[in-house]
Amino acid sequence: MTDFAATKAMFHLPEGMIYLDGNSLGPLPLAATKQVGAMMQDEWGEMLITGWNKAGWMQKSNDLGDRIGRLIGAEPGHVVMGDTLSIKVYQAVASALELNPARKVVLSDNGNFPTDLYMADGLLRSLGDEYELRTVNPEDVAENLTDDIAVLMLTEVDYRTGRKHDMKSLTEQAQAKGIITVWDLAHSAGALPVDLAGCNADFAVGCSYKYLNGGPGAPAFIYVAPRHVDQVRPALSGWLGHEAPFAFDLDYRPGPGIERMRVGTPPVLQLTALETAMDIWDMADIASVRAKSIELCDLFIAEVEASCPDLTLASPRDGHQRGSQVSFRFREGYAAMQALIARGVIGDFRAPDIMRFGFTPLYIDEADVRAAAAIIADVMQNNLWDRPEYKVRSAVT
Ligand SMILES: *Cc1c(COP(=O)(O)O)cnc(C)c1O
Repeated sequence: MTDFAATKAMFHLPEGMIYLDGNSLGPLPLAATKQVGAMMQDEWGEMLITGWNKAGWMQKSNDLGDRIGRLIGAEPGHVVMGDTLSIKVYQAVASALELNPARKVVLSDNGNFPTDLYMADGLLRSLGDEYELRTVNPEDVAENLTDDIAVLMLTEVDYRTGRKHDMKSLTEQAQAKGIITVWDLAHSAGALPVDLAGCNADFAVGCSYKYLNGGPGAPAFIYVAPRHVDQVRPALSGWLGHEAPFAFDLDYRPGPGIERMRVGTPPVLQLTALETAMDIWDMADIASVRAKSIELCDLFIAEVEASCPDLTLASPRDGHQRGSQVSFRFREGYAAMQALIARGVIGDFRAPDIMRFGFTPLYIDEADVRAAAAIIADVMQNNLWDRPEYKVRSAVT
């Protein structure tokens, strides 16, 4: 069980704001300001370069990897932090391809987040013309698992609609065809229980600034299954993934186990902020977070559908088929979201017409859901979105 009132009290939540965008960027853990400040003064300030050893900066990438690993069912010692998720996608797909050298196709779905597709496409172009990135509709993945495919690269939870793939079943079906799997957990880690070991997953990647609350620019994580980790040759063979970085050898030799998936210098300030977020996660059990999230999403759908006939549910109605977000379609979704943001209900907009709301039980409760639904009803019933200033697009939506 999780004491959600206690976890909520651990975050800075601005007055008058109902924050339904923790699926994009989690809020500030109250302890982060002090702890990052102290780290800067006591460690960066006083220790300078000796902090790498004295304060254990290098180890943070592994320790935090294991703390996230608990939420995603990874074997201890098989998750490491670093870089951005785009980079980790590249690294995982490149390593997976090398494990399946006779095949040249990466299969994904057209609901995947664009950067995953862009990174895979860029990688395949650099490998040669015989390589192919193939995308199919999300519901057609299983029937397209053919034996020319090297790697299946999927994001478990669709960023737009919240539709959830069956990771265990697709992994099993892919592996039966000799396909290596790469799972992106961007909208899974901290949103729902993931069981990487139990699913026999090959590779997984994800970010720590969404549901995990590590802050803007928090690093990504990568998981490699124990059966592969000593075989994979990282395409991004940076010095900190070397067997002996401080030998400064001219030849690359991959480090032991997951160490080889490091690239360069870890972002220590961000890792310190992430530690404070993971301290809150230590108070939570992910099964109760999932149960509460389904309750909150179901309540939100019921309230919005009862009062806003112009909004069409874009997410699966069955909570078990959905991640921790609810999306509605509306032709003027961008303007409607701006009107909501002006009234303190923060969600986001995803082109072409999706209004997206994330539900994060660590700091969102039933009263928040009811209050948000009432504001949405007011905006929709009174066409409060229909104003020119709400239709001007910002750079980040
Ligand atoms: C959020 C998200 C990303 C973001 O990648 P960054 O490199 O961290 O900017 C990538 N993939 C998916 C599936 C995402 O949801």
